[in-house]
Amino acid sequence: MMARAKSDIIEMTSDFLDEVEAESGIKVSACFQCRKCTNGCPVTFAMDLYPDQIIRYIQLGLKQEVRESATIWVCSSCETCTTRCPNEIDIAGVMDFMKQWVVKEKGPAADSRVLAFHQVFMKAIRKRGRVFETGLIGNYMLKSGDWFRKLKDLSIIDEMRLGWTMIRKGRLNLLPKRIKGIDEIKQLFDKDTRL
Ligand code: SF4
Ligand code: SF4
Repeated sequence: MMARAKSDIIEMTSDFLDEVEAESGIKVSACFQCRKCTNGCPVTFAMDLYPDQIIRYIQLGLKQEVRESATIWVCSSCETCTTRCPNEIDIAGVMDFMKQWVVKEKGPAADSRVLAFHQVFMKAIRKRGRVFETGLIGNYMLKSGDWFRKLKDLSIIDEMRLGWTMIRKGRLNLLPKRIKGIDEIKQLFDKDTRL
């Protein structure tokens, strides 16, 4: 996350808390900062803000800090934090909500490639109810710009070799498959205005 200059004015508003609570249905204001969520989280080593800090920043209306944080993308949705919270705050749900909030606000995210991956992943789930890895890789490479970067430095050759090896070993399928309940998945996406 980018450090703020001392002269920057920190935007603090309760509107952000109201927006998150109203749209996610999660009572973020119930947090009393016990840090049980953070103490149980298995991926804090890769986070720039701890889960309890994300919750606190939302309470304080620190939109920009949350938007630029790598934490919401590092979260693996394991739900350990949600299970541990004495106030039954769905912290994993807050992380999911914040991802879609960044997409809706059109970023900027902490890392534009992570945002690109999230978008193509969600699109794939909406379309087939599961990920078709070969298509996902191609779509991600195009959306993130990695395709052109890798073409330029020729590292695309290594990627293609790796892809071919995975296809030969049966780790990548060449044809996509849909799940049976795809209509239900689409209904879930249609119901959620953030998706
Ligand atoms: S466990 Fe719940 S109450 Fe405790 S810091 Fe985390 S979100 Fe707040
Ligand atoms: S859901 Fe995310 S924030 Fe919560 S414990 Fe798991 S990885 Fe950490």
